[in-house]
Amino acid sequence: MSRDRKAQVRTCVSCRSNKDKSELIRVVRRPDRTVGLDETMREPGRGAYICKDVDCLAKAKKRGTLKRSLAVELDEEMYERLERAVGKTG
Ligand SMILES: [Zn+2]
Repeated sequence: MSRDRKAQVRTCVSCRSNKDKSELIRVVRRPDRTVGLDETMREPGRGAYICKDVDCLAKAKKRGTLKRSLAVELDEEMYERLERAVGKTG
């Protein structure tokens, strides 16, 4: 069995499906406890992955999945940034 070493599968915190990192966005809680959108996918800090899917993000927002996963509050502005990030396809 061959393994594709480029495939890096992560679990979406909202729908719990396993996807390749390229299909997810990473939200990071930095060491100073600020929350950011990690476009490099390699910022230090605690990360949570979520699908590039507006419905999936809406569900996470409604249920508070992201803040529970990161153990930090996410403000409205952060959700808006995320919505823009997942909304741009491709
Ligand atoms: Zn998802």
